[in-house]
Amino acid sequence: MSSPMPPPEWEHLKCYGYAPGGYVSRCCHCGKHVAGLDKLAITCRPCAEKLNARGALTGAANDLLAAAKQARSALLTKWPIEVALANVYRDALRALDEAIAKAEAP
Ligand SMILES: [Zn+2]
Repeated sequence: MSSPMPPPEWEHLKCYGYAPGGYVSRCCHCGKHVAGLDKLAITCRPCAEKLNARGALTGAANDLLAAAKQARSALLTKWPIEVALANVYRDALRALDEAIAKAEAP
């Protein structure tokens, strides 16, 4: 009897070096010895969560950069500036709100 396993709830932290298990390892970010890690894990869960949140903020910063480029090109091509800027502000605010919510999530 086997059914496909759903991805574990910590799946998104795997790329930061975290996986749960029965070993004690030293986290390469905070330097603490942490129990409950996989044999190959190099990052404790709190550090992996922080790295994940920081990644979301980097994504928001990239979105802002894209919005700035869009505004610049709107200025150069003399599109209706008010419309272009309103879109840029809306997109930037949304990206920041999402990133901040992720970074502050418990
Ligand atoms: Zn750590």
